[in-house]
Amino acid sequence: MHPDPAAAIHPATITKTDAEWRQVLTPEQHHILRQAGTERPFGRAYEEFKRQGGGTYLCGGCGAELFSSAHKFDSHCGWPSFYDPANAKNVRMIEDRSMGNIRTEVRCAVCDGHLGHVFKGEGFDTPTDQRYCINGVALKFVPKPGTES
Ligand SMILES: [Zn+2]
Repeated sequence: MHPDPAAAIHPATITKTDAEWRQVLTPEQHHILRQAGTERPFGRAYEEFKRQGGGTYLCGGCGAELFSSAHKFDSHCGWPSFYDPANAKNVRMIEDRSMGNIRTEVRCAVCDGHLGHVFKGEGFDTPTDQRYCINGVALKFVPKPGTES
């Protein structure tokens, strides 16, 4: 799948039918992005994430720029963690009461795909004290030119 650079520069809502999403996403990506699923912690995508060097994380559904490796940190939670979005206008937050307590869901603003949740005030030594806890399979990593991934 090729990310659409125009979508990152000029965000516009991408809408597809469920059948169309199933054609472009893996079953695991579809479960997370379109059904707000959660990958298991410390899974394969997380192990890959930990090994990745400098680069940009795009939405696995639409290719919008979401996060930068510059904002990665190791929270030991088992999912990719960032303390800030790289391109805040491509990320939107929604209050999520589905688990009985209030959490803030993080979605791609362009395709409305579910990415994960954001937690605040946990005391991490980061500039924002926020933890964007993101499913690795919802992200597409693009290494910075000239660096190993
Ligand atoms: Zn997206």
